[in-house]
Amino acid sequence: MLKSERYPHLKVTDPEVYDLIYRQAAYEGSTLKMIASENYASFSVLEATGSSLTNKYCEGYPGARYYEGNAVCDEIENLAINRLKALFGAEHANVQPLSGSPANSAVYRAIMKPGEKVMGIPVDFGGHLTHGWKVNFSGKDYVQVPFGPSPETGVLDYDQIREIALRERPRMIWCGTTAYPRTIHYDRFAAIAEEVGAYLVADIAHISGLIAGGAHPNPTPYCDIVSSTTHKMMRGPRSGFILSKIEDRYQEKYYPTSKNNLAKRVDRAVFPTLQGGPHMNVIAGMAVAFGEAAQDSFKDYAHQVVKNARKLGEYLMEHGIRLASGGTDTHMLLLDLRDKEYTGKDAAEALARGGIIANFNTVPGDTRKPTVTSGVRMGTPGITSMGMKEDDMLKVGEWIVRILNALPNSETAENSVRKEIADFCTQFQIPGLDD
Ligand SMILES: *Cc1c(COP(=O)(O)O)cnc(C)c1O
Repeated sequence: MLKSERYPHLKVTDPEVYDLIYRQAAYEGSTLKMIASENYASFSVLEATGSSLTNKYCEGYPGARYYEGNAVCDEIENLAINRLKALFGAEHANVQPLSGSPANSAVYRAIMKPGEKVMGIPVDFGGHLTHGWKVNFSGKDYVQVPFGPSPETGVLDYDQIREIALRERPRMIWCGTTAYPRTIHYDRFAAIAEEVGAYLVADIAHISGLIAGGAHPNPTPYCDIVSSTTHKMMRGPRSGFILSKIEDRYQEKYYPTSKNNLAKRVDRAVFPTLQGGPHMNVIAGMAVAFGEAAQDSFKDYAHQVVKNARKLGEYLMEHGIRLASGGTDTHMLLLDLRDKEYTGKDAAEALARGGIIANFNTVPGDTRKPTVTSGVRMGTPGITSMGMKEDDMLKVGEWIVRILNALPNSETAENSVRKEIADFCTQFQIPGLDD
């Protein structure tokens, strides 16, 4: 269980902040972390991230810094880069983006000009804000050509994607989502991008851990660029990275007079175009997480995440809850509540009061407002990091169904589930929380 002496200095010098951190940790330690984009980083990742490296300025890149005293930091950044390249089989890696969205901003800077067309999935169909959504810089500076999973089947239709691409001729295509429970077929996307002469960029923020663990196809061989976060399935610190090919296959077409190849343009987009000094403490935490992800135990973990999601999905469907796309191949379940009286928000709030923490989310073809939606998105990375297996999913499924079936008068069910979950959590060792 939680050790109150985890932060001995903070406890003495600032009991107010200490208490807040402790309360959040205690909350997370007695509830089920089922937000699909969250996970538990290990103590080792947390220690590196919380280390004295936070004090160092390292503007620039290894071997070419704008500050002195960076010999060791060069080694740290190179270690993170080399581990990352090996994990994904990438030609080039940049580990300086401060998170997923800054990584995606740099992608645009590296290969796009303002006003050009970018093919991406709109947010209400499961895309990310940075894929061209209207309120985001990407939708203001570039023109989104939308595509997405079919409202009927919840699945991507590659023939339709090809038709849109042939008609619109985008300069770039994003393949990657925040709410798609199925395998993404990068070979299909690659053929389409090739045919229309577009850059192909995979955003693997949600699934980079599945890919590193061999539980989802790797887009790296198929894509010009791959962007990601490190704090979701990857169990790293909050950060981002960009992988790319070294040479730009469209150099002649788009950058005929430039001396910079694709790798160089990616690096320059991150620094100095968008960012200043990198967070070397976080980069050290990333190196640790990449080291962990290369171990066999992480492969087992990634496959267990998928097995757990499948098992939980089967249980829910057997008990009258529809899933967008009819199931899952990944860490994610998207509950399709379009046929229910209650909204996604009603469901997510009731589940949270019962100790199951997820989020309401639109489903493809949603007719309810984005502030309430008809879906709940949940994932198994967090509870699998606790050590849960398929058998435990039957329990989790029973808790979910008990609360949802009781809506709108779910208070009694919530209270009983909340107690059972708090009790259940004491049986597990939570990474980064429990000794
Ligand atoms: C989470 C996510 C991002 C953004 O990451 P932040 O770290 O929240 O900026 C980008 N793309 C996808 C697909 C994501 O799931």
